[in-house]
Amino acid sequence: MSGWRFERPPNLPLPQPTEEAQPFFDALKERRLVVQCCSNCGALQHPPRAMCGSCQAMTFHWEEMSGKGCVYSYVVTHQAVHPALAGHTPLATVEVELAEGPHITSNLVDVLPEAVKIGMAVEVVFERVVAGVVLALFRHSGAADSAISN
Ligand SMILES: [Zn+2]
Repeated sequence: MSGWRFERPPNLPLPQPTEEAQPFFDALKERRLVVQCCSNCGALQHPPRAMCGSCQAMTFHWEEMSGKGCVYSYVVTHQAVHPALAGHTPLATVEVELAEGPHITSNLVDVLPEAVKIGMAVEVVFERVVAGVVLALFRHSGAADSAISN
């Protein structure tokens, strides 16, 4: 990959966690990727919400994910649709399907936007963007890419 590495546009707004999502971001600070798990039916859901999308229960616990997954979908932004993106395009945003099932929106740290492929095997990397804020980004892993193709 010739040393290329994703750099998050420094002026891009930071996540503003909801009350439900705060434990997810707190776990990231500990380098753990967790997903909300319904205490009633066991469904995993992300992003965190007040109510289970499967059974409407409102009690949850948190399950730690392996951090492994594959690229389910992606979009490459060419226009600076936000002032913070000026000079930072093209920028690939990926939807990762975690091995455990939930999907998470992120960026790939080591894959050029034009080289992103659906099915690419990825694994989480924890990136501290500013003091007190760690995000879950992903890198191309050594695992075999999924058979799904573009
Ligand atoms: Zn449920």
